[in-house]
Amino acid sequence: MGEMKKITYTACIVAAGRGTRAGGGVPKQFRPLAGQSVLAWSVDVFASDPVCTQIIIAAPPGDIDETRRQAGKHAGRCLFIEGGATRTASVRRCVEAAEQDHVLIHDAARPLLSQPVIERLVTALASHDGAAPSLAVVDALVRDDGAEIEPVDRTPLHRIQTPQAFATGKLLAAFSACEGKDFPDEVSLARSQGLAIGLVDGEERNFKLTWPEDFERAESLLSPTPHPALQVTGMGYDVHRLDAGDGVHLCGVFIECPLRLIGHSDADAGLHAITDALLGAAGLGDIGEHFPPTDERWRGADSVMFLEHALQISKEAGATPVHCDVTLICERPKIGPHKAAMKAKVADILGLPLRRVNIKATTTEKLGFTGRGEGLAAEAVVTCRIGSD
Ligand code: MG
Repeated sequence: MGEMKKITYTACIVAAGRGTRAGGGVPKQFRPLAGQSVLAWSVDVFASDPVCTQIIIAAPPGDIDETRRQAGKHAGRCLFIEGGATRTASVRRCVEAAEQDHVLIHDAARPLLSQPVIERLVTALASHDGAAPSLAVVDALVRDDGAEIEPVDRTPLHRIQTPQAFATGKLLAAFSACEGKDFPDEVSLARSQGLAIGLVDGEERNFKLTWPEDFERAESLLSPTPHPALQVTGMGYDVHRLDAGDGVHLCGVFIECPLRLIGHSDADAGLHAITDALLGAAGLGDIGEHFPPTDERWRGADSVMFLEHALQISKEAGATPVHCDVTLICERPKIGPHKAAMKAKVADILGLPLRRVNIKATTTEKLGFTGRGEGLAAEAVVTCRIGSD
């Protein structure tokens, strides 16, 4: 069995219309759409198809230069031909210039053509004179003759799109046989000459830009969807022992009181919990890995430095804090009078607006180590935005 001959084809893009029904004041195939002209979108699809070896564009009469300017980045490999007085005349000129044995004729006003539709058409050409993408009619249909409304059975009816694909020689013969006649599309012309046409599945998104709202729909379909910002959350928990002293550091604020927090650094359990929460959100381990308590450098250290460092490496890892919530758990000192200062301090370190930082405090009803005043605990939750994953 011999290898089946691979079908290559010439794409003929009909861009010769002057239709301004869709608004914008210029022919619709030249209107901008999601970063380039309507026409350029179709040119791009054919230019990226390896079995499309020639692209011919029918330009409005007298507008070849403008059409070339609007054809996009592949204009250099397109052949531009001045269109005729009718669609049929324009298409015929393109098909006469086609070098391939097969042609795909496409409306420039359908910028959302997809490669699978082209592949189905090319496949159908192996067993038919021509092929077209078709869609079912979903709405009920009636015939209105002015006097009576009669329902029409939609079952055998199809909506036909472009590209319409043909054996070049057979289509040229049909053009010759129909000299001087105009047809709404090439399937109509081909069927008038008895050519065998296969229908393949079309696509709803391959719609024809006709009305102003069609442009909005096409724009949203062709515009790249921004990756939704993702959020991640980390939690932190820390405890330090309380003893008699002359004040404690909590959430970056020094509170004068007859207590002190015991620890290797300044023992700011609030900032330590926030630091761990941030590292957790960024997936960067915990505070002990970055600032080992055995390291002499951190003796008596200001915990603001820990959080600043965690912020820097989190941002480098792509995680930027957007919210921080803290709960301080102790009987003493009283946190309430210092909440505003703590909130301002944490917001300042993290670069957040005040409304994105929350400081809460609770007691444990004299229960447990916090209730007995042996220690102070802090919990924090930090939410980060990450660009993408
Ligand atoms: Mg700690």
